[in-house]
Amino acid sequence: MSAATTRGRTARTARTPAPDRLCAEAVDLARAAAEEAAAPGVVGEHVGVVSEGDRVVTHYFECEDPGYRGWRWAVTVARASRAKNVTLDETVLLPGDDALLAPEWVPWSERLRPGDMGPGDLLPTEADDLRLEPGYTGADEPPPNSVVTGEMADLVDVEDAELTTRPEPPRRGSIAAVAEELGVRRVRVLSRYGLHAAADRWDEEFGAKTPMAQAAPASCVSCAFLMPLAGSLRQAFGVCANEFGPADGHVVSLAYGCGGHSEAAVMPKPPKPAAHALDTMRVDEYSLRAEAEEAVEAEEASEELGKG
Ligand code: SF4
Repeated sequence: MSAATTRGRTARTARTPAPDRLCAEAVDLARAAAEEAAAPGVVGEHVGVVSEGDRVVTHYFECEDPGYRGWRWAVTVARASRAKNVTLDETVLLPGDDALLAPEWVPWSERLRPGDMGPGDLLPTEADDLRLEPGYTGADEPPPNSVVTGEMADLVDVEDAELTTRPEPPRRGSIAAVAEELGVRRVRVLSRYGLHAAADRWDEEFGAKTPMAQAAPASCVSCAFLMPLAGSLRQAFGVCANEFGPADGHVVSLAYGCGGHSEAAVMPKPPKPAAHALDTMRVDEYSLRAEAEEAVEAEEASEELGKG
């Protein structure tokens, strides 16, 4: 036994006194308390007794409930100084070393995965969401739902935020109205971090390193099916519009590519038949009943020979 182990055991012994004899013997009292708290027939064997302090002892019983495998009923009993009566302190169900426990709770915002949202679901964004930053609104004052106001911070703290009223449309002819037409009048826009995060995601799924791109005859940048994006991301991404391609409707890296590239394998056109050549304008007459006419002509000829 190592010196450290010896020291540890010595310290534990010093902290917790030996179980009080009368309390340790009160197994029946403890069992009765456990059976009263539990459903009938789920309190099992007495498996241990632990001293909690001076004249305070906890008795442990197996829990036979199949839903609580590895749990134990813990009944604490106590005795007053110089008293002979042992009294009940508390009864609880505690997990043992091999108890089946629920996983640690994870907040919904960390549990959420892409594709988890369904129709009608609301997904509030944090006031300090790193993916977003204040946009240009044309107003001198920050709008009521801007992240720079405390009002918005309070609002997004509410997990199930209700839809807020939309801001008033800008006055016709104002700078804000022009900005709205150009698509820049938004309370918040993607931050640099948000742009990078989106680019990384898209590049992972439809980027140059994917097996599809590695085997492609040419890259999307030269494909007629590539639709350009607006904004700074257009330098690296576009949207594929080839309904037969693997990325139809998805944002693809310009370095991505697939066998559906518009110029990869152009189908040869079917050969055109040569123009019909006319070498005469005469109309040839053909008899519809040639055999019958020939027979008549032969008969007439033989009759003439007979007369002669
Ligand atoms: S068809 Fe293929 S090469 Fe063309 S844009 Fe779509 S993914 Fe890129």
